[in-house]
Amino acid sequence: MEHIVIIGNGISGVTVARHIRKLSDKKITIVSAETDYFFSRTALMYVYMGHMKFEHTQPYENWFWKKNRIDLVKGYVNTIMAEDKKIILSDGKAIDYDKLVIATGSKPNKFGWPGQDLDGVQGLYSKQDLDALEKNAPNKETCKRAVIVGGGLIGIEMAEMLRSRKIPVTFLVRETSFWNGVLPKGESALINEHILEHHIDLRLETNLVEILADENGRAKAVTTDKGDTIECDVVGLTAGVSPNIDFLKESGIELGRGVKVNRLLETSAKDIYAIGDCAEQHEAIGNRRPIEAVWYTGRMMGETLAQTLCGNPTEYKPGHWFNSAKFLDVEYQTYGWVFSEKGKKEYEQHFHWRHSTEKICITIAFHNESKLFLGINTFGMRMRHEIFDRWLTEERTVDYVMEHLKDANFDPEFYKQYENEIVSKYNTEFGTSISPKKKSWKRIFSNA
Ligand SMILES: Cc1cc2nc3c(=O)[nH]c(=O)nc-3n(C[C@H](O)[C@H](O)[C@H](O)COP(=O)(O)OP(=O)(O)OC[C@H]3O[C@@H](n4cnc5c(N)ncnc54)[C@H](O)[C@@H]3O)c2cc1C
Repeated sequence: MEHIVIIGNGISGVTVARHIRKLSDKKITIVSAETDYFFSRTALMYVYMGHMKFEHTQPYENWFWKKNRIDLVKGYVNTIMAEDKKIILSDGKAIDYDKLVIATGSKPNKFGWPGQDLDGVQGLYSKQDLDALEKNAPNKETCKRAVIVGGGLIGIEMAEMLRSRKIPVTFLVRETSFWNGVLPKGESALINEHILEHHIDLRLETNLVEILADENGRAKAVTTDKGDTIECDVVGLTAGVSPNIDFLKESGIELGRGVKVNRLLETSAKDIYAIGDCAEQHEAIGNRRPIEAVWYTGRMMGETLAQTLCGNPTEYKPGHWFNSAKFLDVEYQTYGWVFSEKGKKEYEQHFHWRHSTEKICITIAFHNESKLFLGINTFGMRMRHEIFDRWLTEERTVDYVMEHLKDANFDPEFYKQYENEIVSKYNTEFGTSISPKKKSWKRIFSNA
């Protein structure tokens, strides 16, 4: 019986395993080092915040794996011997495979800062990081201040976590405005304000220089390039992630920043594939990045690869870009492409609306000549994924989107609706006279 071995039990590794099992009777083994069972990394923050226990982050009961004949091996893979079709674990154990899937995820970036390996300095990626944070920052008495370095999604999550225990937080962000490499300036400004209102000491355009140690080798302060010294007990390093592939350096498999793959998710080595955060497309798909470190793309790659491994070669085609996240209590959704000023295409025009008092806004991107709808970002307002996906496929214009905006709203009943206000601002700015159509369930559920 063909033996498929998967390295990594994150969302990509377990998805490929589950789908191979749905499609076949092959022998499946998952080898992973971090935890015995799959858990939802995106939910780690809620464990620290007391909203759930760690067990609740495990989507499957522990018996699920045995019942589905998916063998789990807890261990770290040191070496892949591609010629011999073998992997070697750190305890010396060897496992033979017929097909191998590398799904080893990411690791937090460290940029060689002096003091980056001191006690009290940590990332937020793994279950071990969660345990470390619980130890390093159990309360505001033990951790009198934390400094977080790096203004992305994980940094703001870490700030929210620490603030939930009333721990003072200083947030060092290299950019002139929060996440402005991704968000257009109006949205980035809204999040800057929101962070400050949550009593987080946001310091923009500020870089970490050094982490200073006390006499026991624990972090006691950081210095910045603005000349400040900030006393602290915990330093969170959240300056992005990169593929977790150091163990592959001698493997002979083609590597870039990640494991290089083609559209079938094949690596340069025969019968070896890579998926999820650690995989890097030779050529990016559309406007996507060659490495996509997001949850749902890991799941999609797992589903796609299972087809190929079970005799139905299938290319990875992720469709229209979408994503969602949370900035403290403000929800963010994005569908299609809305680039920040830094990445904006020459044909891309934006329409921005912001509520006068609440943290609610949208930005719609469209083609400046054809008026083709390119994408939307929303903050503090929920929109229907299927609707925007459909409008992008149908290549609707921005005027059509404005006219039918009420169809896209997904806020619960009795939430205040803002479409009339939004469309009115659009009309004023672009000299149109669009009147928004009433929400139509028929249109929403039609497959037109
Ligand atoms: C705090 C946090 C919040 C996030 N929130 C979101 C979000 O809201 N939305 C979103 O889309 N994405 C989010 N992400 C990103 C998302 O979690 C990742 O994209 C996703 O988990 C990657 O899945 P993966 O299966 O590729 O890898 P991972 O989940 O990283 O799993 C890989 C596993 O392989 C193991 N491994 C690595 N090397 C070896 C080896 N040599 N031998 C054995 N085992 C090995 C690792 O220990 C790990 O357990 C978040 C990430 C973090 C850290």
